[in-house]
Amino acid sequence: MEHTKGFLNYQRIEEDYEAVELRIKDYKEFVHELTPEQAKQQSARCMDCGTPFCHNACPVNNVIPDFNDLVYRQDWQNASQVLHSTNNFPEFTGRICPAPCEAACTLNINSDPVGIKSIERAIVERARAEGWIKPQIAQQKTGKKVAVVGSGPAGLAASQQLARAGHSVTLFEKNDQVGGLLRFGIPDFKLEKEAIDKRVEQLKAEGVEIRTNTLVGELPEGTKVTNWATTNVTPASLLEDYDAVLLTGGSEQSRDLPVPGRELEGVHFAMEFLPQQNRVNAGVAMPEQIRAANKQVIVIGGGDTGSDCVGTSNRQGAAKVVQFELMPKPPEQEDKPLTWPYWPYKLRTSSSHQEGCEREFAIATKEFIGSEGKLTGLKTVRVEMKDGKFEEVPNSEQIWPADLVLLAMGFVSPVASILEGFGVEKDARGNAKASTDAKDGYATNVPKVFSAGDMRRGQSLVVWAIREGREAANAVDAFLMEPL
Ligand SMILES: Cc1cc2nc3c(=O)[nH]c(=O)nc-3n(C[C@H](O)[C@H](O)[C@H](O)COP(=O)(O)OP(=O)(O)OC[C@H]3O[C@@H](n4cnc5c(N)ncnc54)[C@H](O)[C@@H]3O)c2cc1C
Ligand code: SF4
Repeated sequence: MEHTKGFLNYQRIEEDYEAVELRIKDYKEFVHELTPEQAKQQSARCMDCGTPFCHNACPVNNVIPDFNDLVYRQDWQNASQVLHSTNNFPEFTGRICPAPCEAACTLNINSDPVGIKSIERAIVERARAEGWIKPQIAQQKTGKKVAVVGSGPAGLAASQQLARAGHSVTLFEKNDQVGGLLRFGIPDFKLEKEAIDKRVEQLKAEGVEIRTNTLVGELPEGTKVTNWATTNVTPASLLEDYDAVLLTGGSEQSRDLPVPGRELEGVHFAMEFLPQQNRVNAGVAMPEQIRAANKQVIVIGGGDTGSDCVGTSNRQGAAKVVQFELMPKPPEQEDKPLTWPYWPYKLRTSSSHQEGCEREFAIATKEFIGSEGKLTGLKTVRVEMKDGKFEEVPNSEQIWPADLVLLAMGFVSPVASILEGFGVEKDARGNAKASTDAKDGYATNVPKVFSAGDMRRGQSLVVWAIREGREAANAVDAFLMEPL
């Protein structure tokens, strides 16, 4: 590290956002990345503490002190090389990772952490602009064939690693475009889809064959997941035709709220609402689009998905947006001595919340109310935690007017039929059962079938999906190249 006292001289610099009144007029990204000078100053705050907790807290183990030093020296090309040595897609994580690395930064003990995520984004955007991100084509082919099922960040990272190792990779996707939740869940204002398209070009140049609109196995009638498949491939044919199969189909079953009135028109899963807007942004006509314009919207669920529903509703011109969270309101500030270097429990206010949203905590929905089959409101009670269980607060019933309710309470598991089609055993939560152990990690009970990402670990983060995709690719490669 050339500069070790920067933290005494410079403050943390946050990336600027476009003003709210401008950014809610469209679905474009609104974060202004750091200038090279700002990135240099920010990286100078890294004190080379000697035990980089940030590196350990980052699920892909980005070599953060090293790229900080290279940015300080303005050696952007090597910074990009260091960054890409651990992370296939830093332009995704540099935009949407919650940055557990920053919570773990040594400077965060008694000051503001280094803006690691903003530096990551500045590096990869510089590399994109300079044309340094090129296909890495394998020099030798192994003659082995791998089928990867599901093209979210786990499937993309795994396909890229396997192709670079010389295997022939076919990536199957039931939707009409590649990217999984990056493409159809996460709104464009957080991640414009051009970033995915560029990586798809790179993967194709590296030899990955992509088959979209292709469902592997079957979906039971009425399953509410995105699916634009026009053709089916059976699990048996994949097992027959490929030397290994990697299942990265995500955790797509949304958690439902089966209270009276659930069937009313106007109650939808977040993953019915969000993909439609992303498709409209991509130029697809959606005459039946669920829209929030001029409506009283209630979003049930306080996480990332709920926050994305808030931002999308405001962009569509909702009259009012309210978000419910079952848990009590967290403290505004974390207790640093208690939590550092771990992920702290504190109130998180997203850019979508800043755009207009009433937030209600410790509240549970008892009933959806309607008239002539259409939603008009909902009935709630306040709840409190007693002896580890939620209890209703007496006399706390309330009626809320609502024309649109979006259920964003997370995802329970992968679609069972897909795992069952391969005969893959499930864990207690319904995910593909496979460990991450060094020996036989990511392998399922079915010979030559592996699983990774949300399909194996349950609903998680993009950065974890990338890590699991990379590690599973390693496991598949070791299995294929085992001496006979
Ligand atoms: C609205 C929303 C917002 C989010 N925001 C963030 C965020 O800001 N930051 C963050 O880190 N994480 C976020 N997440 C979580 C993150 O997107 C996921 O953890 C991540 O995408 C999981 O990656 P994956 O590759 O395991 O699965 P997915 O991204 O779910 O991809 C799975 C793919 O497999 C395909 N597939 C499934 N079954 C089959 C089959 N049988 N045949 C063919 N194809 C199949 C699916 O169509 C899908 O394309 C968000 C999630 C949602 C829903
Ligand atoms: S991927 Fe996430 S945790 Fe890792 S360095 Fe980037 S922002 Fe931090």
